[in-house]
Amino acid sequence: MKKEEAVQGFRALMQEINHLTCMEEEMMWDTRVNLPPRGAEYRSELMGYLSGQKYKLKTSPRMWEYLQELSQYTFDDVILNRMQEVARRDYDRLTKIPADLEARYAKHGIMTELIWQDARQNNDYESVKGVLKNSFEFKREYARCFGCDSVMDYLLDNWEQGCTTTQVDGIFSDIKGYVLPLLDKIRASGKPYSRQKLQGFYPREQQLALIHDVTALVGYNHEAGRIGESAHPFTLRICPRDDMRFTVTIHETDFTNALISSLHEGGHALYGQNLAPELKGTTLAWGTSWGFDEGQARFFENFVGRSLPFWKYIFPMAQERFPLLKNTTAEEFYQNLNAVNCGPLRLYADELTYNLHIILRYELEKLYYDGKADVDELPELWNDKYEEYLGYRPKNDAEGILQDVHWFSGWIGYYQCYVLANCYDGHFLHSSMKDIPDFWEKVSRGEFDEINDWHNRKVRCTGNLYSPMETLYRFSGETLTAKHYIQYLKDKFEPLYGI
Ligand SMILES: [Zn+2]
Repeated sequence: MKKEEAVQGFRALMQEINHLTCMEEEMMWDTRVNLPPRGAEYRSELMGYLSGQKYKLKTSPRMWEYLQELSQYTFDDVILNRMQEVARRDYDRLTKIPADLEARYAKHGIMTELIWQDARQNNDYESVKGVLKNSFEFKREYARCFGCDSVMDYLLDNWEQGCTTTQVDGIFSDIKGYVLPLLDKIRASGKPYSRQKLQGFYPREQQLALIHDVTALVGYNHEAGRIGESAHPFTLRICPRDDMRFTVTIHETDFTNALISSLHEGGHALYGQNLAPELKGTTLAWGTSWGFDEGQARFFENFVGRSLPFWKYIFPMAQERFPLLKNTTAEEFYQNLNAVNCGPLRLYADELTYNLHIILRYELEKLYYDGKADVDELPELWNDKYEEYLGYRPKNDAEGILQDVHWFSGWIGYYQCYVLANCYDGHFLHSSMKDIPDFWEKVSRGEFDEINDWHNRKVRCTGNLYSPMETLYRFSGETLTAKHYIQYLKDKFEPLYGI
């Protein structure tokens, strides 16, 4: 095979894979937003067909031949080089796992989530303990296929390329070192903030109109996307740059849920809408990692969307839609929106304690894989850690270890990505403020052009062209650290609670 022939063949194959991925996204949108109940069966067959086709292409002899041929040359083309790197990583990942293991795991996965749903409803950990053990052990088998001694290191790298337990341990210990003593001070402050005070009646149509305006304000291009409604919010990259859609879930008793989550999903969408045109239609037209994509989302959700400058600007817009807010000030609203609550459920956690919910899950995964705790002991350890970190002991396993689907749907060793995303946000803020010193003044005036321009040039445009750690280094000159995130928490929560 000639060099030129290999380059062209490889590009065409990668384009085919990308087309299939975009079709999957399109079909996923239809499945979650429009599908009539009776269409579900055939839809799952179609989805299975598409992912099977993609698997075949990624592991095909053709792919292997191209990769072998191309590896003999060096290219100046950074896009071509990275596409090879990603394709090789995929090829290795998929071909090192025996088909028999994949088949056993797929079968196991289908029933696990269903058993978990019943177990949570009936507060019955015993009934799900066995399948949870199998889920954990499957991951050990996967790690063995790659010759990894540390299952956690394997899982971490799988979700966030280049990430290790040593690195995450250090970051988590820094965050705990700041957040735990701060929580004691917050409890002692006696401030009566509460999210309950935000409750009222906020009509659906008015919420959707506000979401439209606010997402447009922060830069979401409605000409290159759609906002739909679904049971759980999500974002899909149907065509990066030109068609980035997301959904919201409206609750009429509290408009902040859907509004803040539209900023989260809108953050994911902004990442895709602002990719460099050269990456469009390639397999690199995606976020560089789960953590990075989540970081872009959480930056607009939390750093911007729960800040006082932002609420000072958008509160009159909200008051216009919802007259019952007329007797409240933006400042009071901001305080209640950011009330720190030490409850048992991750999904209802505030921005500060959210980190502890994640850290303790990661710590339990590590205990399991280090052989220091078995599934029998996990519920008790879960509750002990909640008591130690949050001062609240879950009343039962339904509000304890059974609350999240992650461990029962294959997302073991994933949780840390949420906190790593917060740390990436710390870097985004710290670095962007060097170029935009009046960042918060701009937010308080609803001016997002310069802020978006910074994110577009430094982060979004390169998509998956560089690994996450390289992307980080390129805009910040730093390696991943929690220090900027901790500084952000300090600047926000200490004044909020008068500490
Ligand atoms: Zn997200």
